[in-house]
Amino acid sequence: MKIHNGTLYWPTTTAPFKPKVTNEKLDLYDVVIVGAGMSGALTALALVEAGLSVAILDKREFGSGSTSANTGLLQYSNDIMLHKLIEQIGEQEAVRFYKLCYEAVDDIEKIVNRLHIDANFIRRPSICNASDEKDMEKIKDEYATLKKYGFPCDYFEQNDIEEKFPFSKLGALVTFSDAEINPLKFVQGLLREVEALGVHPFPYVDVLDVLKENDILEIRTSGQSFHAKHIVYTTGYETTPVGKRIGADINRSYVFVSNPIKDLSDWHKKALIWETKRPYLYIRSTADGRIIAGGLDEDKPEAPFSDELIMKRANNLLKQTKKLFPNYEMKIDYAYAASFGESIDNLPFIGEHPTKNNHYYLLGYGGNGTVYSMLGSIILRDLITGKRNEDVEIVQLHREFGMK
Ligand SMILES: Cc1cc2nc3c(=O)[nH]c(=O)nc-3n(C[C@H](O)[C@H](O)[C@H](O)COP(=O)(O)OP(=O)(O)OC[C@H]3O[C@@H](n4cnc5c(N)ncnc54)[C@H](O)[C@@H]3O)c2cc1C
Repeated sequence: MKIHNGTLYWPTTTAPFKPKVTNEKLDLYDVVIVGAGMSGALTALALVEAGLSVAILDKREFGSGSTSANTGLLQYSNDIMLHKLIEQIGEQEAVRFYKLCYEAVDDIEKIVNRLHIDANFIRRPSICNASDEKDMEKIKDEYATLKKYGFPCDYFEQNDIEEKFPFSKLGALVTFSDAEINPLKFVQGLLREVEALGVHPFPYVDVLDVLKENDILEIRTSGQSFHAKHIVYTTGYETTPVGKRIGADINRSYVFVSNPIKDLSDWHKKALIWETKRPYLYIRSTADGRIIAGGLDEDKPEAPFSDELIMKRANNLLKQTKKLFPNYEMKIDYAYAASFGESIDNLPFIGEHPTKNNHYYLLGYGGNGTVYSMLGSIILRDLITGKRNEDVEIVQLHREFGMK
């Protein structure tokens, strides 16, 4: 499956991660991780720091999956608003899930600082605009709900928005403590660190099947086999080699990245911008003053091959962005399309397979994929090391739209 097509921006900002060439391979690992993107790299860090022996395998160059297409907005608010999630799964679990997402942004910052990873992590507020009059109620309900449960947020009236931005909207929800990041630099920094801590990296190894004998997993690949006590699938939007996602919806989405803009001073705190309608347009800036805008999701799983179609959609995104920032001299420097997975119940898939012991999954489907990768790595570390973690109940795989 081709998970992205077109010209990506992040790979131009950093050299690819190249594992050191060694012949080291253990006869038996505590854990083999399948997939070396954001989820795999964060899980490898959590597990190796817990003292486990770990190998990480990927059929491609490390970090070149959807991590390279990720636009790097880190937000505690989800594609499903908190007041709606409360209706869906109840107050206690919904609020706890939002807290986990909030803490995950902090945890990413702590890792960036602790490991000195140059990943352009910058704290930003987010502004979620009401796309039209009828969505004003949603924005107000969500503001009241977030406030009630102590999440840092604000409400902007139309005149506040006009004062702070060159565009006008009827109202907006503002959330604080969010951030932007260069996801590829972050993952490469993580991979370098975990390799130094003893994780064995194996690029260009396609995992095909997993068998079990006497509690030991035999992981069959396109090359040699691996043996492990546990396996973690961090395979992103592609079909997992073992297990079936019941509630996954794979679509595709488009992104353009502009030239560096000289002066972004009329953009209030360079806030991350999104909106209430679905699919939504979202916009951020980069450390070198570019603008990244994404959206126009389509109900097809594979990224299109047609450069013409990608440019057509990128031009549409450019037009929408220019409506918001008419003074910027913007052009398209990079444009791409990518597969984008969402779950039917808006929750990621994290936990142990309902019937296959020692098979674990971290599939962070949804707009908050990076935040899910972070919180999922902690949940899986606890499950694999035998520590109690009640948060898994919210995202576990034996739910109605989970895995079988
Ligand atoms: C256009 C776009 C914009 C996005 N923007 C944001 C955003 O702003 N904020 C946010 O939080 N999230 C965002 N996301 C989501 C985010 O990109 C993903 O959640 C995140 O990258 C997932 O990381 P991952 O490690 O799970 O997947 P990936 O990075 O795709 O890694 C999975 C890896 O598994 C490997 N693999 C798969 N199958 C096998 C196999 N059988 N054997 C060996 N290897 C295998 C693949 O080669 C791949 O490298 C966005 C996604 C897209 C597509």
